[in-house]
Amino acid sequence: MASIFTKIIQGSIPCYKVAETDDFLAFLDINPNAKGHTLCIPKKEVDKLFDLDPETYTGLMEFSRKVALALEKAVPCKRIGMSVIGLEVPHVHVHLIPLNHMEDIRFVQKVALTPEEFQALAETIAKHYRG
Ligand code: AMP
Repeated sequence: MASIFTKIIQGSIPCYKVAETDDFLAFLDINPNAKGHTLCIPKKEVDKLFDLDPETYTGLMEFSRKVALALEKAVPCKRIGMSVIGLEVPHVHVHLIPLNHMEDIRFVQKVALTPEEFQALAETIAKHYRG
């Protein structure tokens, strides 16, 4: 069965899109640790990061770097943190999280945003993205 992220890629589940290439997609995490929390995924459905073929792995890191640079411009923060977990969704995803405190990367505290806030945030980050 297709992962929830494959369904997002196919457009059958909506997302707040930040950036897209032929091989990768970035969108806002729906239950963010902090404002701007973004997920970067390969379109190829693979469960674990280190099972990716080397080309896709490197491509995902390059894509994530570009998204992180856009995120840093769009959201006031001390720096962008990166984490790979995957215990919930078995489709490789890089978490990019604007950090102000250590708490922001701990996946314990969450922030609530309205659909309008998600949409505006995604558009602001997208504006800063340079492919
Ligand atoms: P993990 O697999 O533990 O790295 O966590 C999966 C992440 O995906 C969590 O932070 C969820 O909030 C996020 N997530 C799950 N479903 C969606 C969705 N439909 N759109 C955006 N983010 C999602």
